[in-house]
Amino acid sequence: MEHPALIIVDVQNDFCPGGALAVPEGDQIIPIVRAWAEDFFRQGYPIVTTQDNHPPHHISFGERGGPWPPHCVQGTLGFALHPALQLPPHAVCLKGEDPDQDAYSGFEGLVEGPEGHREPLASFLHRASVDTVYVAGLATDYCVKATVLDALKAGFRTIVLRDAVRGVDVNAGDSARALEEMAGQGAEIR
Ligand SMILES: [Zn+2]
Repeated sequence: MEHPALIIVDVQNDFCPGGALAVPEGDQIIPIVRAWAEDFFRQGYPIVTTQDNHPPHHISFGERGGPWPPHCVQGTLGFALHPALQLPPHAVCLKGEDPDQDAYSGFEGLVEGPEGHREPLASFLHRASVDTVYVAGLATDYCVKATVLDALKAGFRTIVLRDAVRGVDVNAGDSARALEEMAGQGAEIR
């Protein structure tokens, strides 16, 4: 029997239209992600959101030679999950907190537990006996891809929810190529 978890990658205000680093149509996945989350919650399966949680002057920001405008800065509205997401109870995995290191993958983040306890995402999933992860969110060609590839490396059966991801496409076709790469490494694109 499958022991699935839903990983919702970076559906934060700054990655949605109107945000500092908007993914085109990023908000269009929200109703789909919500429906998946409600389904997982009803069945008692774990749900984890990953969120960029950058300090000011993070290394990925243009001011430090990084590729991105400032985004998802700790304590800002841009960091918050999109208000329409309205998720059932879920765990939160924060990443990109080291000012001098970027972290695209949720598996580089730490899941917040009670009383300030934090643990790597893989440990959290293993403790919950998860063997299969369903991945949704933003952006297909960056943090979704990195999270999916790390999930596969960590030994999880990994399913990408095609209708519930969107990409940046800095270069045309980046998202399609990212999906191909994920599939090539063993992810199921569904
Ligand atoms: Zn970031």
